[in-house]
Amino acid sequence: MTQTNETQQAFYDTHGHGPVTADDVCLVVDREVADDAIAERFAGVDLLPDYVAEAGRRLYLWRGSERVSEGEFMAAARRLTSGPSRDEDRARTLATMRSLARDGFELNAMLKDEDGFDADASVMEHFHVEVRPAATGIEGVVDYVATYQIPACAYLQYLWDGCEAMSGPPFNADAYVLPTDREDGYDLICGWSGCQAGGRMEYAVRNATDDEEGRRHFLRMLAKFLLDVHLHDVRIVTYGGGTMVPAATHAVAALWVRLTESLGTAHVGTCRVCGKPFVATNERRWKTRYCQANGACAKAYARTKVVLGGIADGKSFDEAVAETRNIGASRVIEIVRRNRHILREEYPQLDLDQILRE
Ligand SMILES: [Zn+2]
Repeated sequence: MTQTNETQQAFYDTHGHGPVTADDVCLVVDREVADDAIAERFAGVDLLPDYVAEAGRRLYLWRGSERVSEGEFMAAARRLTSGPSRDEDRARTLATMRSLARDGFELNAMLKDEDGFDADASVMEHFHVEVRPAATGIEGVVDYVATYQIPACAYLQYLWDGCEAMSGPPFNADAYVLPTDREDGYDLICGWSGCQAGGRMEYAVRNATDDEEGRRHFLRMLAKFLLDVHLHDVRIVTYGGGTMVPAATHAVAALWVRLTESLGTAHVGTCRVCGKPFVATNERRWKTRYCQANGACAKAYARTKVVLGGIADGKSFDEAVAETRNIGASRVIEIVRRNRHILREEYPQLDLDQILRE
């Protein structure tokens, strides 16, 4: 067996389903891909550790180690079995896996984009970030808080463990998981396994400035947090006497190991026209800005620039669109909205906001 195979095996291949690849990462985060296709790709794969079995084990240890009445034991056991069914849990875990991986992918790709980005209100909203008055009451600063609603499923326990592993407030940052209904599901014995109402994860950075710099600082911290919280139970194994390889024991962690690895070794981006995610590993594609859909997106971008050129020459928006073949007004507006920060530099004489109001 070659070393490559060994390292791939260490990565996640305990049930013969093959390692999670960079293509899998793109598949999972692509909004155009149906949930059924993801369920099929991960059919039979352990998505997360079996927390229900673990809670059951703890429950029996608790019964044996303390003077626990039969009534107390039965109540805890009922709570454990009152959570979602295995099928429900799996569907919710997959949906949560997709939405968090999408945020992690898009946010990290945006931060790495050489063309830059606007840290404006729409970006903050896209990544579920709220600006709140500073909890410390200090004047002139704010708290940034990203909130993720998580349905009742094993993912809650996973994120809880991840936030606990990062406990302690470095750099004024704070991560925690809270039950949606404080009475529901969560206790020391059963953990989140019996949860019925779901919960939410929050990541907060306190006492930051309420301006572009503060927003950028928070987005960088959030990008790091999303990676770190998902890598908390990844082990390191070695090959060839000195090569360290991350070893994930379940698919969610494997997905994030591969995403993190792709960020470090490949060009990770989203198409500047349609938003489709891609991971380009060879050098020719390193500089690519488009998905690989027959060059259609590259052409749409070029046509949008022809329209903008026409407006710069004094034509009205409608005239410029009418004179450019194979592109409609709504498509032009969509592409301008997505690439406003780039086009603003290229066409300083145009009022792009005016075009976006068309
Ligand atoms: Zn595209």
